[in-house]
Amino acid sequence: MKSHVCWAVVALSAGLSAVSVSYAEVRITSARNDGSATSEFLFENVPSPSRSDVAAQARFTVVDGRPDGNGGGVEKLSDGKVPTEEDQPAENFFFRAGTDGGRLRVDLGRAIDVKQVNTYSWHPGSRGPQVYDLYGSDGKADSFDAAPRRGVDPLACGWKLIAKVDTRSEGRPEGGQHGVSVTDSNGTLGTYQYLLLDVFRTEAADPFGNTFYSEIDVVDPSSPVVAAGPAGEPTGEIRRQVVEIEAGKYQITIDTTEAPDLTKWASDELTPVVKRWYPKIVAMLPSDGYAAPARVSITFSANMQGVAATSGTRVRCAAQWFRGQLQGEAKGAIVHELVHVVQNYGRARSSNPNATRTPGWLVEGICDYIRWFLYEPHSRGAEISARNLDRARYDGSYRITANFLHWASETHDKEIVRKLNAAAREGRYTEDLWAEYTGKPVQELDSEWKAALKEKAAAEAAHSHR
Ligand SMILES: [Zn+2]
Repeated sequence: MKSHVCWAVVALSAGLSAVSVSYAEVRITSARNDGSATSEFLFENVPSPSRSDVAAQARFTVVDGRPDGNGGGVEKLSDGKVPTEEDQPAENFFFRAGTDGGRLRVDLGRAIDVKQVNTYSWHPGSRGPQVYDLYGSDGKADSFDAAPRRGVDPLACGWKLIAKVDTRSEGRPEGGQHGVSVTDSNGTLGTYQYLLLDVFRTEAADPFGNTFYSEIDVVDPSSPVVAAGPAGEPTGEIRRQVVEIEAGKYQITIDTTEAPDLTKWASDELTPVVKRWYPKIVAMLPSDGYAAPARVSITFSANMQGVAATSGTRVRCAAQWFRGQLQGEAKGAIVHELVHVVQNYGRARSSNPNATRTPGWLVEGICDYIRWFLYEPHSRGAEISARNLDRARYDGSYRITANFLHWASETHDKEIVRKLNAAAREGRYTEDLWAEYTGKPVQELDSEWKAALKEKAAAEAAHSHR
């Protein structure tokens, strides 16, 4: 039923040993999103990947084991970027096929209080789950070995075991996005300069058991607070406004309880946009027998990082980001999320056992097409000019794909987005649809589109030099 997070396994402390093991005060929270996950990496109880964590400046080193040449280097673990597809080797780090993982060291540069270690992976099969032991060290012990290879017990050379992570689950599908957050009830895991991940393969039945790690975040207490557990009851006054649309046919609740300073902006500026655009989006994206969600909530969260994310009919917004964008991208970002609510692509699998997966770039591209070309065309936010021409590819996701969809609907088929959406929602998206709708395979459309962009860029250059 949900479009982004289909379900999540949450294991808090001891008790659910199949999913998590806890050491002393350490808490391991893990979550999994299935195939409809998008590159937003939204999890129920695990923070989304961060760009601003301290690992972004840390040095990652392989101290044992061999990286797989088909993957990206260890820098993929801290670049603040996550894959846009479920099977994108080059956007992940993983150990070589046929081997049993290896050891990775993270050097934070100096000893700091480590509040959280969050790890993310994404793969449709057995390379999705994560199995690793996490150690930490301040590097001060006389016996300290900064690069203990397999066979050397880290506990014997200055390291402390922080957690043993295993997100495999008996009898459940393993593929999808896995997110793990290691925290401590005291607020800090300890003071460490070095972290060591002893990474194991998830299975040995075939050579492809090494996890596709997408990102590793290390959060210190001075980073913005991230809620790793279920959010507690809000304190203070509850601030919820209900937007009634078409005499109550749709009701959208906007909750600014955690960000009271946004209440006035929400009622003055956001409410009219939501009221006008939710039914418009519903009308733009119809399909046989489909009724869009009638109850939707938009919640501004004090602790969320990133921008916004949608899970079924619930839109969560990072209050911090919105505060800085009230005159900029704030409303457009909500329009994007409302498209996710209406897309509802997760429903295909509940009604169609043979449902195909709609690629993430198209899911996001449709949202950004409606946002940038229909909601705020005046902002020209998805223009491709001479400057960013080399980034143009139909599956570039977000506003790049949006530009392609705009071009395809102007040039080939005015109804193409409506048709692609209906196919995606019914679980029958395939690449062949492009040829069916336009008479040309998508690769050919891609070349045509790029040629048109080039021509336009050249014309603009000539014009500006006149
Ligand atoms: Zn999105």
